[in-house]
Amino acid sequence: MKITEIKTAEVQIKVDKKPTYTYHYVRIYTDEGVYGTGEASHVDGGWRGSTQTMAQQLIGKDPRDVDACFEGIRRSYIFRGGMAGLGISALTGLEIALWDLAGKAQGVPIYRLLGGKFRDTVRLYVDSAMTNCRERAEEARSKGFTAIKFDLDDAHNPHKLDAWNWSVTPKELESMVEQAFNIREAVGPDMDLAIDLHGRYDATAGMKLALELEDLNLMWLEEPVPPENIQAMANITQATRTPICAGENAYLRYGFREIIENQAVDIIMPDISKCGGLSECRKIANMAETYYIPFAPHNNSSALSTVGDAHVCASVPNFLALEFHRFHDPTWEHVIQSNHDVIQNGHVKLTEDPGLGVELNECYLKTMLEKDEPLWQ
Ligand SMILES: [Mg+2]
Repeated sequence: MKITEIKTAEVQIKVDKKPTYTYHYVRIYTDEGVYGTGEASHVDGGWRGSTQTMAQQLIGKDPRDVDACFEGIRRSYIFRGGMAGLGISALTGLEIALWDLAGKAQGVPIYRLLGGKFRDTVRLYVDSAMTNCRERAEEARSKGFTAIKFDLDDAHNPHKLDAWNWSVTPKELESMVEQAFNIREAVGPDMDLAIDLHGRYDATAGMKLALELEDLNLMWLEEPVPPENIQAMANITQATRTPICAGENAYLRYGFREIIENQAVDIIMPDISKCGGLSECRKIANMAETYYIPFAPHNNSSALSTVGDAHVCASVPNFLALEFHRFHDPTWEHVIQSNHDVIQNGHVKLTEDPGLGVELNECYLKTMLEKDEPLWQ
């Protein structure tokens, strides 16, 4: 089996006629008629060109050699983003397409090729930003979700004195802690609760918040400080009973090695469709497992990549929960076609269908394009 062609599709999904989500898909074709589809997340306008440039290296290769295809391109991109960033994110889209192809070519779901599954369903947690927490928690619970996340950072907190320094004033701290306790009260004691700070605080402020929230029994407090300084994150993790989670902006095993070896966090959250793909994230989860660190991937992608993430989450023992950002998105399930409901009772259901197990709904995606604009280019 040989790769013959690669095409990309960029689709802006409109909700109530307003462009709301932009998705980046890549398709790899072969000489045997089988194709695979992937999705790259958190890329920019140069993504299409980067993907096509990388793809030239894949022509004539056997797509079932997924890791060798990936690593060949990655090494050739060392000076162009092969260590972290947009280059890796574009390459990740190709990697997911290779896995879809490899699964279809062998007639098995991807998780089988990753060593098999530990579970048939993959638990999702609802990312709720700053919505009405009581209402949202009740709605999530009624749909079978057992975990939820809210944002606590607020750049416009009226008690903030300076938009650029990342300290907290006493009143700001007090209002945030009060809000966090209100969230826990609204959510109830039985649901897993995470709180996100988006790395918007300095080391002292992040420490104060982590200590003040100890009695909330959080699933985690996310990025109390920015993620680049691993020692600063580790200082907070070691000083508090609040579990600390980070990693949504780290790339590859190499980007997670120091975080894991220093036990700088209690939980890691790589973004699978951005930071290296399915193989790489399974390896990151395995590294974390040796420190008894759970794996709770970040996810802000479309349904296609969410299903891709679920194959990895099913294949590792230390999986905790996968993020779900699209709780109120009416278009979420329109993007794909599948023989079953992908989300059932707050979990992604895995099947025996080969590859990812779902296909893009091209008829729907085409309705989002200008007239006569081809989906695949
Ligand atoms: Mg986050």
